[in-house]
Amino acid sequence: MPIQQSGKRLRVPWLRKLDENDLPVTLPVFMAYCMVAGSLRSWNRIGTKTIVTLVTGDDFYYPVFAEAARFFARQIWDGQSFHGNVLQWSDKNFRHEAEALRDERAILFAPLSYQIQDDDRLLSDAVVPLGPRTIRHAEAALRRARLPITGESVELLMTEPWSRLSRAFQDRRDPLQAIQRLRSLPKAIPPAEPEAASPPSTLGLTLSDTHGFGSGLIEWGHDLAKDIADYKAAIIPWRDVENGVLISGPPGVGKTMFASILANTCKIPIIYGSASRWQEAGALDEHLKAIRASFEEAIEKAPSILFIDEIDVFGSRGETDRNSAYMRAVITALLQLLDGFERREGVVVVGACNQPDLLDSAITRPGRLDRHIAVPLPDAEARRSILKHHSGVTLCSADYKVYEMATEGMTGADIERLVRDARRSARRQSERLNGDHIIRHLRPLIKLPKAYVHALAVHEAGHALVSHEVGYAHVADITISRWRVEGDYRALGCVEYDVAADRPRTRSFFENAIAVCVAGIAAEIEVFGSFSQGAAGDDAADLNRATELATAMERAFGMGHTLAVEKFSPDAFARMRASDPELRREIHNVLATELERARSIIRMQRDAHEALVTRLVDADQISGMEVDEIIRKHRRPTVSLAKPERRVAT
Ligand code: ADP
Ligand code: ZN
Repeated sequence: MPIQQSGKRLRVPWLRKLDENDLPVTLPVFMAYCMVAGSLRSWNRIGTKTIVTLVTGDDFYYPVFAEAARFFARQIWDGQSFHGNVLQWSDKNFRHEAEALRDERAILFAPLSYQIQDDDRLLSDAVVPLGPRTIRHAEAALRRARLPITGESVELLMTEPWSRLSRAFQDRRDPLQAIQRLRSLPKAIPPAEPEAASPPSTLGLTLSDTHGFGSGLIEWGHDLAKDIADYKAAIIPWRDVENGVLISGPPGVGKTMFASILANTCKIPIIYGSASRWQEAGALDEHLKAIRASFEEAIEKAPSILFIDEIDVFGSRGETDRNSAYMRAVITALLQLLDGFERREGVVVVGACNQPDLLDSAITRPGRLDRHIAVPLPDAEARRSILKHHSGVTLCSADYKVYEMATEGMTGADIERLVRDARRSARRQSERLNGDHIIRHLRPLIKLPKAYVHALAVHEAGHALVSHEVGYAHVADITISRWRVEGDYRALGCVEYDVAADRPRTRSFFENAIAVCVAGIAAEIEVFGSFSQGAAGDDAADLNRATELATAMERAFGMGHTLAVEKFSPDAFARMRASDPELRREIHNVLATELERARSIIRMQRDAHEALVTRLVDADQISGMEVDEIIRKHRRPTVSLAKPERRVAT
C-alpha cells in the first residue's frame, strides 16, 4: 500500500488520493474514518501500538464508527496480530480486555451515556475526544466517491443523522442514488420545542413559577419582594426588611436556583459568593479579601441579594482542629460583615448549606441569618411539575405512575439530568422529546410477576368493595402498580377514599372504617385462603391502622366499654396495649368481628369483587365512577350489611 511505502506516517485522510487498494467502505464510514483518524493523529503511524479511548459527543452512531475505527486500525495495524478490538466501553467484557492487552491495541468508544471509570483510564494510554464532523470530511468523502462537491450535498452530509446515512449508503448501491434517496425521503425535522422545553434558565422566572420549594420559603420570598418594593419606595426603612435567610437542604434541591429566582422576583441584582470558593483564594489574607470583595460588590449594587453557597464550610469556631484559629478569624470577619443593618444596608444575605447543624450558632443569631428554612426533597407532585418545567412533557397517567415511583428521592437537579439524557437520545433519533424518552431513562423498574399484580388487585378491590358496601366512603380511585423500583418496598397499590367531612363520627362509622382497613386482607383470605405480607405491601399498615382505630374507639372516643378516656396519642396507646391484656382482647375482638364482616361481604359479592379485579389487572387504575358502575352491575341483592348509625354514650 502506498501508505506503507510513503514513509512512517499516514497522510491526513481527507487529503489522500483515491487508492485502488482501499477496502470498500461506504461514504459515511469514510467520513467517520476521517474523524477518527483526525482525533487519533498522534497514533496515526504504521505499527503504533496503543489502547485508546475515544470519547464521543452527541454526533455518534456506533455501527458506523466501529467500521470506521476498524478501517483505521487496518491501515496502521494491517498484517499484525490484531483481533479487531474496536468496542464500546459499555459492551466490554473481560475477554475483550484480555485481547486488547495481548494485542496491545484497541480502540474503545465511550458514548456520552457511559461514565468513564478509573479502571478504563488505567487500561487506556489516552482518553481523547472524538472531533466533530467537518465540511472538509464531507468534501473528502464526496471526492472519494467521485461525486460532485456541491453545497447541497455537503450540507446533507453534515446534517443527516449517521443512522440515516448508513441506511442510505450501501456498498452495492451507487452513492449518487443514496444521496437522491436521502433527498426524496427527508428526515422528519423535529418541530421546534416549545419555550418551556429549551434548557431552562431562571431568566424571567419568578417565585410563582417554581415547584418543590415548600410553602414556607415561597411565602418568605414573596414577603421579601414586597418589603424590597416598599424599601425602594421609601415606605419602610431597611431595618424593617427581613434581610437574612439560611436555606438548608441536600445538594441539587435548587437552593441556588431559588436565590436567583428570588432576585428576579424582587427585581434586584444577585451576587454569587461561595464559602469554598472564597477559601480557595489562598492564605488567610486572601481569603478575607475575597469575602469582603463579595460583600462590597453587593453593597455597591444595593439593594441586592448576596448568595453565600456552602456556608456550612465555615463550620464552627468551637472546632478544635489545628485550623481552628484560622477558621475563627474567618468566621469573625463574616460575622462583622453580616452584623448590623447599617453596615450592609440594602443587602439581603441568603446562605445555603447542606448541614445546618454544623453551622456556628453565631451565624444564625438574630440580625444575622436568623430565619432558617429547610428545602425538602420534592414530593411526587413537585417532581411532576419539575419534569414539566424542564422538558415541557406531560406524561400519560400510567407513565406518571412509573415516573413517580422511579424518581422517588430524586432532587430537581437529578430530574434535570434525566431530562437532559432523554433529550439527547431523542435528538440522536431525530425525534422530538416525548414521554417515552423520559421513561426509558428512569431508574430500573422491576416488572412484577402476573401473579403478584393479581394479588395486588385482589387486595385493593377488597378495600374498595367493602367501602362501597358498608357505605363508609366514596371510592375516588383504585391504583395498582406493575413495577417496583429496585430496592424500594413501598406500597404498590392504593385506594383513595372521599369521606364526607360532615359525616357523624359514630361508633358504627369507626367500625366501618376498620372493616374497610382489613378488607384487603379479607379479600386475600377469601381468594387465596390466606393473606401474605408481601403481596400488597401495606398489610402491616392496614392492620396497624385498624389497631389504632380500635384502640382510639376504646380509649379515646369513649365508644367501647368505658367513658373514661385518655388523650389521643399513638405512643400512649401502644403502651396501654402492651400493659393491658383486657384492652388487647377487646381490640382483638373488634378487629376479628370486622374482618369476619368484611369477608362475608366479599363472599356475598364475589362476582363484583372478581369483576373489579379483572378490570384492575387490565387497567392499573379505575376511577370511583367506574368502581360504582362495576359493583352495581355485578352486585347480588342482599340485606344491608352496613352498621346502622347508632349512637352510644351521648
Ligand atoms: P443546590 O443549590 O440546592 O445544590 P441548584 O440550585 O444548583 O441546587 O440546582 C441545580 C439545578 O437543578 C438547577 O439549575 C435546576 O435546573 C434544577 N433544579 C433543582 N431544583 C429544582 C426545582 N425545584 N425546580 C426546577 N428545577 C430544579
Ligand atoms: Zn391494604
